[in-house]
Amino acid sequence: MKAVNQITVTGMVLAAAPVGEYDRRIVILTKERGKISAFARGARKPNSALVGVTSPFSFGEFTVYEGRTSYTLMSASISNYFQELRLDVEGAYYGFYFMELAGYYAREANDETELLKLLYQTFRALVNPNIPNRLIRYIYELKAVTVNGEGPQVFECICCRGKASELMFSVKRGGLVCSRCMGRVSDTRTLNPSTLYTLQYIISSSVEKLYTFVVTEEVLEELETVVTDYLAEYVGKHFKSLDILKTIIL
Ligand SMILES: [Zn+2]
Repeated sequence: MKAVNQITVTGMVLAAAPVGEYDRRIVILTKERGKISAFARGARKPNSALVGVTSPFSFGEFTVYEGRTSYTLMSASISNYFQELRLDVEGAYYGFYFMELAGYYAREANDETELLKLLYQTFRALVNPNIPNRLIRYIYELKAVTVNGEGPQVFECICCRGKASELMFSVKRGGLVCSRCMGRVSDTRTLNPSTLYTLQYIISSSVEKLYTFVVTEEVLEELETVVTDYLAEYVGKHFKSLDILKTIIL
């Protein structure tokens, strides 16, 4: 009997690049196999069934042939193309950045169920006009580092585990610091109580409940500073898509 190495995975296309004259190589973040790369034969021929399904943002089920060293895409059934983003340049570039960050964290053969769920819910929020894109960005960034196990400690002092009332935030220590331990930490900053509550909510709530609130401009600005500084400290990569996004939202 001949083994058929064909599997169906649930995932989202993070990136697509042309190969040769008619083909494409895509990167898919999957629930079952983590981040995989798959070859899509003929995906650039105008009448190929693989044209649309291999575009970034496509979310659904992908049937791939598993070779010894690589995957080949056979077919796909897409449940959400996030088509709204084709008419929304700003939203689309937020999307490209979110995918680059997810791709940076995701590993092959790793369980990336949480990260995929986060990315999917973040795209749902991105096409929802009621949630500001800036807020979506900081929620997503903070939750992505948290899902990856590098989130800040925002419930107790990171040095002594104490729950004293005056807690300050230290990016270098990676979380809150109490008044007793403050002397040993050089980069403490005071947070607005609403900002601290927002950080706690983002870190502790389920992915499904992440995008259910908005904040004041003051809290949004503080959230921006804290999350941006935190990522600068703990994410060791420069994202090209973020540079492009910055030129668009200025
Ligand atoms: Zn302490």
